[in-house]
Amino acid sequence: SAYVFTFGGGVRHEDPRSRDKTIVGGKGANLAEMAGIGLPVPPGFTITTEECIRYLAEGADFSDELRAGVKAALGHIEQAVGKSFGNPADPLLVSVRSGARVSMPGMMDTVLNLGLNDETVEGLAAISGDKRFAWDSYRRFIQMYSDVVLGVDHHLFEDALEIAKEDNGFYADVDMEAEHWQALVGEYKQIVARELDRPFPQDVNEQLWGAIAAVFDSWDSDRAKVYRRLNDISGDWGTAVNVQAMVFGNMGNTSATGVAFTRDPATGERAYYGEWLVNAQGEDVVAGIRTPQYLTKAARERAGAKPLSMEEAMPQAYGELADVFELLEKHYKDMQDIEFTVERSKLFMLQTRSGKRTAKAALRMAVEMVEEGLIDEATAVKRVDPMALDQLLHPTLDPKAPRDVLGKGLPASPGAASGAIVLDADTAERLAGRGEAVILVRVETSPEDIHGMHAAKGILTARGGMTSHAAVVARGMGRPCVSGASQLSIDMGARTLKIGGRSLKEGDVITLDGATGDIMAGLVPTIEPELVGDFGTLMLWADKHRRMKVRTNAETPADCRMARQFGAEGIGLCRTEHMFFDASRISAVRQMILAEDEAGRRAALAKLLPEQRADFKAIFEIMAGLPVTIRLLDPPLHEFLPHTEAEFAELSDAISIGVETLKRRADELHEFNPMLGHRGCRLGITFPEIYEMQARAIFEAACEVAAASGEAVVPEVMIPLVATRRELEILKALVDRTAQAVFAEQGRTLGYMVGTMIELPRAALMAGEIAEVGEFFSFGTNDLTQTTLGLSRDDSAKFLGAYVDQGIFQRDPFVSLDVDGVGQLVRLAAQRGRATREDIKLGICGEHGGDPASIAFCEKTGLDYVSASPFRVPIARLAAAQAAL
Ligand code: ADP
Ligand code: MG
Ligand code: MG
Repeated sequence: SAYVFTFGGGVRHEDPRSRDKTIVGGKGANLAEMAGIGLPVPPGFTITTEECIRYLAEGADFSDELRAGVKAALGHIEQAVGKSFGNPADPLLVSVRSGARVSMPGMMDTVLNLGLNDETVEGLAAISGDKRFAWDSYRRFIQMYSDVVLGVDHHLFEDALEIAKEDNGFYADVDMEAEHWQALVGEYKQIVARELDRPFPQDVNEQLWGAIAAVFDSWDSDRAKVYRRLNDISGDWGTAVNVQAMVFGNMGNTSATGVAFTRDPATGERAYYGEWLVNAQGEDVVAGIRTPQYLTKAARERAGAKPLSMEEAMPQAYGELADVFELLEKHYKDMQDIEFTVERSKLFMLQTRSGKRTAKAALRMAVEMVEEGLIDEATAVKRVDPMALDQLLHPTLDPKAPRDVLGKGLPASPGAASGAIVLDADTAERLAGRGEAVILVRVETSPEDIHGMHAAKGILTARGGMTSHAAVVARGMGRPCVSGASQLSIDMGARTLKIGGRSLKEGDVITLDGATGDIMAGLVPTIEPELVGDFGTLMLWADKHRRMKVRTNAETPADCRMARQFGAEGIGLCRTEHMFFDASRISAVRQMILAEDEAGRRAALAKLLPEQRADFKAIFEIMAGLPVTIRLLDPPLHEFLPHTEAEFAELSDAISIGVETLKRRADELHEFNPMLGHRGCRLGITFPEIYEMQARAIFEAACEVAAASGEAVVPEVMIPLVATRRELEILKALVDRTAQAVFAEQGRTLGYMVGTMIELPRAALMAGEIAEVGEFFSFGTNDLTQTTLGLSRDDSAKFLGAYVDQGIFQRDPFVSLDVDGVGQLVRLAAQRGRATREDIKLGICGEHGGDPASIAFCEKTGLDYVSASPFRVPIARLAAAQAAL
């Protein structure tokens, strides 16, 4: 039926919905796909995501159609494996697994071995000839089901197991024999009865529907919602439910379970990478209950580990697995993350998906797959998430810095991070909210920790391998992570920890190196990244496919230099006011502001001129040959004023004006609504000598640099906060006059442009007229967002969270452009501007210039360039290429 799609067991549906992630979820689609290409997938069925949405909308009720569909699909599994559900002689057992469109921590955990009860467990023991296996499966089932479906605290079961082992003098789970598991099952059932006041459900259909409901309900769980919000996943997608015949990795020493990647997800190296455990089931590998072993001989030898790799211990099953890796990579043309089980030497595939990877690995894989002929350059460019580059653009530990190494774990997610130790997710979130750098330290992480992991600079766990929850989530988030640091022990009561024989407490600073697994005491200095190797190659490909130019927002020589290294093709926004705050100049700036008349202002400006000229000279030299857009003074003047008594006194001495007079002038400058007050071009209109000084500094610097280097400098003088054509006309005339004067003095002329920011709704609407004067527009989308939404940039943080939570905004409109609203003004201004002046240059210089979604919008609107902060330049280059492809 359309509610349920079967897979495996020789069926292949014509209906493309049966392999569509949006309908059957990622896991279901890939299971169907793998079964379809002939891989050994245990048969099963998938309930669609649409049923989840319907179920939730209809108040947790199953439709008759769904009940009938599930019954028929169960029949399909029974037939395919020759067992029947609930049959005491030879029972079919199933797993119940959630699976949304994208893999999503926060969804319900998988329930394995469903279909076991007091009768079927005996049948399973008899038919398998393995009593221990049967009772081991039953105790696992009761624990999992009670935990994830019935909501019984799993610690109760874990404690009971610990006590059972202790009573029997056992050290590990593997020491437990059939009778011990059987006894434990008895205790488990008592725990459930005690906690819930009713017995553990024996009816297998009740078990099944209970699990299905729990998967559906988990879509609306708090942790799923948190994850969705952090990852821009819509609440309307719903999750599918996969019900699949069990295969058993816990049937003795010829059985096993594992997870693997077709390439190394941390480095991108073309080598199988994985972990496995003999005689184990499902989550044992990722849960960190036993330490998993290496998949390949090479990896085991490299780590100097003793327990045999799968390659050595089960060469035949391993050989089959390696064939599957090759086949899946060719089929999906991407690195795959695989879950498998070996039951009595026979290999089964339980999951495949495109694997999460570090940015470094993503680059290496993309480049190597092009070299291998698996994908083309455009696909490689599209495959790397621009935001993930962020990981590589940030500092790594200085290899020369001394390190006080406390211990070592697995290098689970690269990058370096320093911060104060915190031991739980809520504290991490709270302290990070106050701007503190924290490292989240846990025994192991679970989906409940997601918000804390997000808030932390780095993550350290005592348990869990490279595919543990902590490792996978940290890589996805780009947080450095060291996992499985076995020397680490945590005392939650005392909120202290021990590692490498040293004691630390919450709040102590440590440093993690996610690339080596080193855990260090204190703060270790870092060094700047370089864009070479695979990064350089991919950027080159991106540049080939890109139409828009990428500039940078920068004003200091250091930022300009870094941006050029990162590939900036000019400056889109040089904010001159930042240059005024410099300690050596602020008093001249204050003198200028507080002057009573033009003569006073001119005297102060004369002091600033050479300084400002030197600023521009440095920038023009670094940016030789590239366009540089300089915005004339923009902020309200009172931002520069002294605040403290001491500052007033100091200024009074410096410029010989009494403190009282200064204070009176400062009071006069006070504004109720400075963002809409005396700022932007309004300063130029009222105090033309300020803009005149700045224009003079620009042109004198440009002439000097052109004379010295011969390379053309192309100043683009930008007038901020223009609302009317007349404002721009007056100020352009001022700039032109100043340019002519300088050119006459210097005996040379230079090409330059005068344009404006479009950052007020009126300017966008009147763009046709304004373009008669302005030679370029730069969309100042920070202010344009603020003025269009009537939303203060500086005050909205307090309530924007609630707006995003309640779905009023999908994302913070100051981070990602409000394409529908503000975007409409941008589109309209671009059209009207072009209608007047065909070749008008159009760019964007708000924060949005570094946001991939906003960049895609700029491409669609046909802007000529985006401008982003230096660290975002490579991100913008890649995003611009993706937008053009
Ligand atoms: P997750 O989405 O958290 O990876 P899965 O649904 O993939 O959860 O299940 C986790 C693990 O449970 C799998 O990796 C696999 O080892 C085990 N598992 C799931 N279904 C089966 C099955 N039908 N037979 C055996 N093991 C299974
Ligand atoms: Mg899970
Ligand atoms: Mg899985």
